[in-house]
Amino acid sequence: MLSDSLFNWIFGYDENMNTIRTYQVCNVFDNNQNNWVRTKYISRRGAQRIHVEMKFSVRDCSSIPSVPGSCKETFNLYYYETDSDTANKVSPAWMENPWIKVDTIAADESFSQVDLGGRVMKINTEVRSFGPVSRQGFYLAFQDYGGCMSLIAVRVFYRKCPRVVLNGAVFPETLSGAESTSLVAARGVCVPNGEEVDVPIKLYCNGDGEWMVPIGRCMCKAGHEAVENGTVCRACGSGFFKSSQGDHLCLQCPINSRTTNEGATNCVCRNSYYRSDSDPPQIPCTTIPSAPQSVISIVNETSLRLEWSMPRDGGGREDVVYNIICKSCGGGRGGCTRCGDNVQFIPRQLGLTETSVHISDLLAHTQYTFEIQAVNGVSDQSPYSPHYSSVNITTNQAGKGDTPSAVLIMHQVSRTPDSITLSWSQPDQPNGLILDYELQYYDKSMAEWNSSVVRSQTNTAVIRGLKPGAIYVFQVRARTVAGFGRFSGKMYFQTMTEEEYKSSFQEKLPLIIGSAAAGVVFIIAVVVLVFVCNRRSSERTESEYTDKVQHYTSGHRMKIYIDPFTYEDPNEAVREFAKEIDTSCVKIEQVIGAGEFGEVCSGNLRLPGKREILVAIKTLKVGYTERQRRDFLSEASIMGQFDHPNIIHLEGVVTKSAPVMIITEFMENGSLDSFLRQNDGQFTVIQLVGMLRGIAAGMKYLNDMNYVHRDLAARNILVNSNLVCKVSDFGLSRFLEEDTSDPTYTSALGGKIPIRWTAPEAIQYRKFTSSSDGWSYGIVMWEVMSYGERPYWDMSNQDVINAIEQDYRLPPPMDCPSALHQLMLDCWQKDRNNRPKFSQIVNNLDKMIRNPNSLKAMTPLSSSVHLPLLDRSTPDFSSFSTVDEWLDAIRMGQYKENFANEEFTSFDVVSQMTTEDILRVGVTLAGHQKKILNSLTSDYTGPPAWSPCQTVTPTPSDPFL
Ligand code: AMP
Repeated sequence: MLSDSLFNWIFGYDENMNTIRTYQVCNVFDNNQNNWVRTKYISRRGAQRIHVEMKFSVRDCSSIPSVPGSCKETFNLYYYETDSDTANKVSPAWMENPWIKVDTIAADESFSQVDLGGRVMKINTEVRSFGPVSRQGFYLAFQDYGGCMSLIAVRVFYRKCPRVVLNGAVFPETLSGAESTSLVAARGVCVPNGEEVDVPIKLYCNGDGEWMVPIGRCMCKAGHEAVENGTVCRACGSGFFKSSQGDHLCLQCPINSRTTNEGATNCVCRNSYYRSDSDPPQIPCTTIPSAPQSVISIVNETSLRLEWSMPRDGGGREDVVYNIICKSCGGGRGGCTRCGDNVQFIPRQLGLTETSVHISDLLAHTQYTFEIQAVNGVSDQSPYSPHYSSVNITTNQAGKGDTPSAVLIMHQVSRTPDSITLSWSQPDQPNGLILDYELQYYDKSMAEWNSSVVRSQTNTAVIRGLKPGAIYVFQVRARTVAGFGRFSGKMYFQTMTEEEYKSSFQEKLPLIIGSAAAGVVFIIAVVVLVFVCNRRSSERTESEYTDKVQHYTSGHRMKIYIDPFTYEDPNEAVREFAKEIDTSCVKIEQVIGAGEFGEVCSGNLRLPGKREILVAIKTLKVGYTERQRRDFLSEASIMGQFDHPNIIHLEGVVTKSAPVMIITEFMENGSLDSFLRQNDGQFTVIQLVGMLRGIAAGMKYLNDMNYVHRDLAARNILVNSNLVCKVSDFGLSRFLEEDTSDPTYTSALGGKIPIRWTAPEAIQYRKFTSSSDGWSYGIVMWEVMSYGERPYWDMSNQDVINAIEQDYRLPPPMDCPSALHQLMLDCWQKDRNNRPKFSQIVNNLDKMIRNPNSLKAMTPLSSSVHLPLLDRSTPDFSSFSTVDEWLDAIRMGQYKENFANEEFTSFDVVSQMTTEDILRVGVTLAGHQKKILNSLTSDYTGPPAWSPCQTVTPTPSDPFL
């Protein structure tokens, strides 16, 4: 302490006669006393409020004889804040302000006698506090102003709340606030392995250094329990678990389960035991049920009743249900295949809660195996297939009620003004030998009861005596000994108008006459066509026609395809072959695609005197060059020469006003490749073959006209609402232009070539013929049967060329009948002379349609020369690193998220998927289910009985691995 020298530093005694040192002052006889004593510099140490405890004694004024009135029995306490220890004798000045007064201190006991030589003192203790303080430190000072006092001890302190563990949380040491009433909030931190419940956990430190008002709490997390009065969260011991946060203790593992480490949040099931997603962790693990028992089958013609009793062991669960797996066996192939979708199960096939099922719509005289699987809530978790009992049965002859199913599709083969030739596919379920078909038809403008009936023993019929340009409604049904089947849906076909007939016949004649007149050897043509003459054609010269006329005969009528580019003025070809339409007759509705020269739109065409029809309108974009206009219109000049139900029909062109347009019939389902991709797995084989038949018929027609398409591919086939396929895209320009950016067409000497679709001789030396179109047709067959898969997948063009050169050929797509793959392989014969002609292809397909049984054979094909490529559509999982990759490869990528959500994320689990699992992941389309199932049960688990087409897997030295 430092004083202004009037305080003296002396020794004395306290009440207990201990020696003490005090500061004393006692100048009561002098007036105007002002004596100060100051402490050393005191560091604040973060405190905001300072407490001062003073021990002192003050002499009672009345005990001093003749004391003056100025005698005092109190003194003052001051403080002075500063950031450093800078005080000296003169600074801060010994006066209030700069000093701040805390209080005047009075003694509650004063001593009456002063005896500096060892007299007893009475000691007072007073505590005062001040704040807030904020500087680094402070001094205290005591002022005497005329008393007789001694200052014995001064204790300076602050208050704090100590570190504490409360409600599962640790609170750090916290200093009290600046005022005695302040509350300082402190955030608690949960003890290790504890977690906050709801709100952040808090405590408040009051001015007296006491904790108060606890808010929130921590609890031990899953796998840990609270011990030592809630101050420690201890991990559950081995064999114990705690599944959630809370105050409760760890529980012992239920039966058939165990822990693998301390702090378990659940107990894992022992081998072969499982827990379903809805099983709580405290119930025992369960297992799959044993097989159903005592299966009885009662066959009644083509129906069957199966009954069984419950499995001996339900696996410890009550939720056992049954699935029925139907396989039809025999059929000359030795193996069994899964039954088609047409077999009916009542009440249902999967998830039966009862122990019986009624099965109908089986094929007559066919051997079947039925597996009755018992499954429960944990079957889908077991890597093993469910236990089942099986039963073999053979159906009898179809019963009386089993008439043929309905014909699904009907095609128009040809038409004239008074006749229409139709063909249709055999019913999917003939249920016996088809004796004949009944075709019922009527004029659409008349009432239905006016209908006529025609009988046919084959699946084609020519209906004669019709009115020109009239629409007729047709329905067909098949008959067996069991009677008539159901009628097909109504289909509409129109006869030709007289004008159409004449123009289709006459408009093509002039050129022939021209060429004949010039002495070219088209004798047959001349004989037939000499009756008809045309002014324009006779003006032509010999040399002009020798190239143009590609000879052709077809039945009794003769047609000639003329290459519009052999015209000196190709515009002339347009005038020759395409009808000019007034733009006012055309109403554009909406854009439906992008063509090479501009947008493709849908719209309406209303020609004078005719009813309005839907059309597709190809437009030529503005700013075209003369060459682009010529190339654009060349397609119309080609198309206009054709008239066939399977060739896109040209309505006409608009060339006299802008925009220039080509108008064709409208094909509701757009191009075949995208249509198939959108409807993956949705058609029966017969429907697909029906489409292929239409394409082949169109190609036969073109072939007969000696027209070589050069770009036959599914993308260039259009499909209408009746699933009729028509060949389109007769543009020549892409073969001529060198700068097209479409990667499908690869530059080759003299033009662009769609490598994957093109025959080797056409790639190598541009030998484009009907036979090279035949090769492309084989590729289209493959595209159709694989629902729009890209031929040769992602192999490079060069790899494709090399593979073909080495006699590799595309493998059968999934579910592809072997007869169809054989036809594809025939189309891909190296020697083009060995490839089937389109007429043979049409006949072949017609036979298949007439006899659908021929399409059921899926036996492996023995390939001598044509080795199929590695079948990428039935993948071996080892070539994929993730389930997503595999789904992409089988073009089921849209289900990636579903698989992930249901945790089918590894091949281990995916390879064990059952039909139920596939349903569970949200694959509801039958075709997609089949695709995934097929892919699952293929190479990966060994050759399955139902595997449709065998593939030859290349050895590791093969270039395709
Ligand atoms: P294109 O220029 O012929 O390749 O036609 C381009 C796209 O327009 C095709 O892929 C079809 O989606 C559509 N398209 C062309 N012609 C027709 C048509 N007659 N009916 C319906 N859509 C068509």
